[in-house]
Amino acid sequence: AKDLGGGTFQAYEPQLHVDADERRVMEIALRRALANGELHLNYQPVVTGETGAIEGFEALLRWTNPQLGNVSPAKFIPLAEQARLIGPIGEWVLRTACQEATRWPSTVRVAVNVSFEQLHNRNFAKLVAAVLQETGLPASRLELEVTESVFMNEAPHAVAVLRELLALGIKLSLDDFGTGYSSLGYLSRTKFSTIKIDRSFVQGAASNTPENVAIIRAVVALADSLGMSTTAEGVETDDELAMIRQLGCRKVQGYLFGRPMSAADARALFSGNARS
Ligand code: C2E
Ligand code: CA
Ligand code: CA
Ligand code: CA
Repeated sequence: AKDLGGGTFQAYEPQLHVDADERRVMEIALRRALANGELHLNYQPVVTGETGAIEGFEALLRWTNPQLGNVSPAKFIPLAEQARLIGPIGEWVLRTACQEATRWPSTVRVAVNVSFEQLHNRNFAKLVAAVLQETGLPASRLELEVTESVFMNEAPHAVAVLRELLALGIKLSLDDFGTGYSSLGYLSRTKFSTIKIDRSFVQGAASNTPENVAIIRAVVALADSLGMSTTAEGVETDDELAMIRQLGCRKVQGYLFGRPMSAADARALFSGNARS
């Protein structure tokens, strides 16, 4: 990570470079993507490391445009945030994911990514409450994933919105932990259920980087002492799984257990006729 001064650090994985022309073309197309039905969600399982049982799914946004093809979320989500499109798009994601989750067994949660910009909306918790009401999904089955960046600017406001969300009974998880903000003070002010350890640490751990192993061990200890659980992201191999389990991380997400899949394929995992 790059020190930007003032105690803030740039994201570990930098945003993909999008040049000005590409940006303009993408932004025009993105403005119409929702209305044109070009967005859909994939679902990636989050499992208990020990048993492989499905605890939930993370909803991951996909955009397929007739001209641009499949655009990576690492490209279009930052653009949607800058172009003030993440509000309506994020609302669609939330509603669609909650609706879909009502078709899964009642123990299975859905995790939805929430951008910093969405937490700027004073009415965000009201929106979440309305979507839960409308879809009938119990609050306890919804998990919202936020990154450390939420605490970088205007932290008091974000923390207030997170409190309102917690009061609804939803769960919060801290996404991509270790790649962003450098201060840990906010951890004592917001009750996260889960810390998600970024895949940059997980994948390093398997190739036996002692530093990454030490970092994961420290994060698990921190989470334990704060009453939070941990999910390891990006687990691709049996070696990584073994390492992660040995370090005491309880939940796992990654290609080893399942790639992001269509809603139909996710549903089929519960109906006894799963496709391969
Ligand atoms: P993320 O929250 O860290 O999501 C996990 C990303 O890691 C996903 O990439 C997923 O496909 C990928 N992944 C999962 N397991 C593995 C693995 O074993 N190996 C490797 N190499 N990769 C794995 P994706 O779908 O490209 O999403 C990129 C990012 O876009 C997400 O990172 C998330 O920050 C953002 N994003 C996706 N959907 C939404 C959304 O609906 N709203 C917002 N605000 N952000 C979203
Ligand atoms: Ca996430
Ligand atoms: Ca993540
Ligand atoms: Ca990540």
